[in-house]
Amino acid sequence: MGGPSPEEWDKVRRYASWMRQLYVDEWPAHVNPSGFRLLSPAGGWFPALRGLAWRITESNLPHIDLFFSPHLREVSVFPGPLLRGNTQNRPEILPSIASAISALPTSTLQHLFVDYSHSGIPWTHLKDAFSSIALRCGPSLTEFTSPVSLSGAAVNHLIHLPRLRIWRVGGPPPHYSVSSLPPVFPPLTKFTLGQGATWQWFSLFERLEHGISATQGMTPLSKAKQSLEYLKIEESDPLRATIDVSFIVAIKIFRSLIYLDVGVFCGKNGEGRCIFKLNDGDIAALTMALPQLESLLLGHPCLENTCATTAACLLPISVHCVKLQKLEIHFNTTNIVEDLKDIPGGRFQELLPLPRCPLSCLEVFQMPLVLRKAGFKTVVNGIVDIFPSLERCTGHGRTWSKISEQLRGVQRLRMSLEHH
Ligand SMILES: [Zn+2]
Repeated sequence: MGGPSPEEWDKVRRYASWMRQLYVDEWPAHVNPSGFRLLSPAGGWFPALRGLAWRITESNLPHIDLFFSPHLREVSVFPGPLLRGNTQNRPEILPSIASAISALPTSTLQHLFVDYSHSGIPWTHLKDAFSSIALRCGPSLTEFTSPVSLSGAAVNHLIHLPRLRIWRVGGPPPHYSVSSLPPVFPPLTKFTLGQGATWQWFSLFERLEHGISATQGMTPLSKAKQSLEYLKIEESDPLRATIDVSFIVAIKIFRSLIYLDVGVFCGKNGEGRCIFKLNDGDIAALTMALPQLESLLLGHPCLENTCATTAACLLPISVHCVKLQKLEIHFNTTNIVEDLKDIPGGRFQELLPLPRCPLSCLEVFQMPLVLRKAGFKTVVNGIVDIFPSLERCTGHGRTWSKISEQLRGVQRLRMSLEHH
């Protein structure tokens, strides 16, 4: 069959010329791509296109450049099935993807988002392609979500972009000598650190904040300290990640944080690899520095019960972060009854009358808990004193579900006392 007639192509041209958003998926079987290319108008088919979402497929990969408008502002890239499994057998696909990505127009680019949620995709082969895009981005850029570690020059270029707000880095920053440290840092609202990136970034933050002599209290991080609300750490290798004091020192810099998510898992059960190395004092210092927190996720509690934090660390969390709605933290339950009994008479007395956070569910995951019958009352009352809105604890094992049941009983009793 002959495909579209000249009149039909003319209609397509008119329609395409005012399109502003486009989602490109499988190439339509009835459209001959070489005809489409041959008849492409001088300014391209889509001169007004601002937003392009591209799912990489075998059928559209050779022709994706036909959808590039010089005025693109938003580009989203989704790895189709082509990248999600076939690339081992089809290594020749990767250079084609790399060259298509490298050709993306960037002069007016504001958002680049790459869906990196699927595992097993050979993103590292596209490092140069994404680095080249980053290097060509200008001051209009506000989001750069990279699935892969970029070259040092590309990261350094992004650090100097004044309007970058959302950034996902796939690797560490370049090494800076004292004299080459960047004098600025973008006013990020959302920063996500991919695998293997965290600890070098933290050390850079500390150098930027404390290493350079601050002029009138201004440091390269001054803007980010005000603006950063969301910090996510995707480190999952327990051998590379420890939540310790140096971690706290870096995070405390960003006092406007609302959402702190450290996705670090401890090693496999029984291997002595608990990565949580903080104590109650560290938690008090962290929460005092971050009063805006609504979500504090410091890694899933593991089975080991070897950490130095105790249930006593929960009170400063509740008092200092009065907006907190979600919490994941390790605390040692070996002496939980004594730890909670000690709170009223101990050093936290001045905190007890203060307002608390509205946390309604405490997720304890694999945290072990062994209690004698007499201990339940102390634990339940102690936890409700700390988190007055708590309705349940969710964790593994019978003891936690019993705690949860008794919690509801105590809450009902307190409610009825309040109303009479
Ligand atoms: Zn652990």
